[in-house]
Parts: sequence; structure tokens; C-alpha cells
Amino acid sequence: MILIRDILRVLEAWAPLSRQENYDNAGLITGDAAWPVKGIMVCLDSTEAVLDEALEKGCNLVIAHHPIVFGGLKKITGRNYVERTVIKAIRNNIAIYAIHTNLDNVQSGVNAEICRRLGLENTRILAPKKDLLYKLSVFVPLNDTEKVAEALFSAGAGRIGNYDSASFRSAGTGTFRPLDGSNPHIGKNGVREEVAENQLEVLLDTDTLHSAVQAMLQAHPYEEPAYDIIPLHNAHKEVGSGMSGELPQPVPAADFPAYVKEKMGLSMLKYTATAGTHIRRVAVCGGSGIFLLPKALQSGADAFITSDVKYHEFFDAEERLMLLDIGHYESEQYTIDLILRKLQSQFQGIPAMATGIRTNPVQYL
Ligand SMILES: [Zn+2]
Repeated sequence: MILIRDILRVLEAWAPLSRQENYDNAGLITGDAAWPVKGIMVCLDSTEAVLDEALEKGCNLVIAHHPIVFGGLKKITGRNYVERTVIKAIRNNIAIYAIHTNLDNVQSGVNAEICRRLGLENTRILAPKKDLLYKLSVFVPLNDTEKVAEALFSAGAGRIGNYDSASFRSAGTGTFRPLDGSNPHIGKNGVREEVAENQLEVLLDTDTLHSAVQAMLQAHPYEEPAYDIIPLHNAHKEVGSGMSGELPQPVPAADFPAYVKEKMGLSMLKYTATAGTHIRRVAVCGGSGIFLLPKALQSGADAFITSDVKYHEFFDAEERLMLLDIGHYESEQYTIDLILRKLQSQFQGIPAMATGIRTNPVQYL
């Protein structure tokens, strides 16, 4: 029997809730993680119609990209679609789970899927986030260094890009004097000791900090290990918004809008002229991503694909790149397949399906 908790564990290992923006409300919104999963319905928007469809198909877990509840509810009387959806979910024991900006901000999330559809290579995060990294420095007797390092690596410390087990060790001399009440691993009460130690340094992030420090303390032979946790200003290259990549072959600028229209399954798009003749480097951001225009320009992108661009914001591209607005729903629509592929790769034969409802409130003529 698979519980909702088991599904969430997989989703949150992929897109940790800690990676969401501070205005967001990703996570379990209604329901109980201890419920057994009967069926899963994946959608962009958990509207009332999607909940009806879930009930009809025997699904009790609805995984949506957009959180139905964003800023909190003060009354739940059914006066608007948000309140009505929450009432329907609670009455019918449906769990609603949102995987939103946390999935935007990870390397294999919403933007990776857009890049994949567009055939972009050598992709990287457009705006890597700062202030997520720490350096842990701990002083360990020479003979115990490997044991402590191994405990740290197993807890996720020492990962840099495609490398793991990264550390630096420098030898020196530690001194201490055990006082009354101590139970020293080395030395005697009241006598000052000198011990050959390594200073072991590893990189950590906000998600591994707590468990790695606990693992280090467990593996360390000393009663009172000396260690420093130092916040770093370095950007975390695997976390942040937007993504950029390169087309395998440059596409003439005049052909690029049609290329995007075809690859992204669009019925229409809006775009600006560019002074460039060819498009090679492309920046993307699913959803409302115009705030990343300066980053797209800095990255040397020839085109920037996003949505929800206002009239005056189109001017800001200044023909330095082609700015394309492909529609909010359209930019994120393949996120449904992305989530389903993740679930199917982890839980074979799980009853998970995409909604048959196109929840886009915007229509085109
Ligand atoms: Zn969105």
C-alpha cells in the first residue's frame, strides 16, 4: 500500500519545499499524508472541475503546479472558486498538493522540460540563488579524519556540481585541557594536551546542513568537537529561476517564432523584433518570468521565452534579443508530463493520470 507520504517523499527529494520562493504556498494544502493513495491526478490548476474529474476517476490525490490557496483563507463559505474548491476537497477526502516555485527552481524542473522541448543543450540555471551554501570546518584527530569525512559525505556534504566527496584537509596541532566533569577521548583531567589534528572542510547547503552536522557529531570521537559553520555568499548553481541553453544549430531569427510555436504546441505567441540575424542561445522561464530579462541579456541570450509580458515590458528588450510571450498556461503545460514521468519512474504501475481538462482560463480567437 502506497501512502500519500511516500509520494511526497519522492516529490520533495526532487523539488524540496525549502526551494520555493517566500511568497509561495507549495506543499500539502488539503488532506492527510497518512492516507493510502487510491489514484493520482496531475494538473496545472486544481480547479473545481479537476476535483470533479478526480472523484469520477477514483483519484484522492491531486498534484497541481499552482497552489489553489496562496495568501491564506479567512472565511470558507464558498463565495469564490478558491473557497469552493477547498470545501469540495475536504468534503470528499481529496488531498491537494502543490509543487510550484520549488519545481521552477531546481535543475530538472519546469524550465528543464521547456529546454528539452526546444532541444536546447548545455543548459544552466539563469539566476542561481545566493545564500544557500555553507562551509563546515571541523577539527579531527588525524586517524579519525576518514571516518568523520565519510559520515559527512553520506549525509550529503561535499557535493559540488557533478562531483561528490569534495573536502579539504590541512594538518595542524590542537590543544585542550580536560576539566572536572569531562570524559576525554584523549588525555587526562587537568593536564593540557597537544594532538595532531586535521582541519576538515566541506561544502553544505541549507537542505543538508542539519543532518550533516548531526552525522559529523556522531562520528567524531571527541566529547566536544570544535567546528565552525560559515555562511557563504557564493551562488548555488543548481538552484534558481530560469534556464538558458543552446540550440544545436543556429536558427535564422525570422524562423524562430515558428520553431517555438511548433515545439511548444502553441496556437499563437507574441514576440519582438531583434537586431540579431540568428538565434543560438535561448533563455527560458515558465510562468511570469519578465523579471529575468536583465539576466537573460547578461547571459548573452539571443532570445528569451516567458509569459505575462506587459506592453511596456516588450520595449525593455530594445531589440537586443527576441522577447517571446508564449502564454502562462502554454509555457507550463508540459510540467504535467514531467511530474507524471517522475511518478512513473519511481512507482511502477501507480494509478497516475493527467487531467483531461485544459484549465487555461484564457481563450484565443
Ligand atoms: Zn505558473
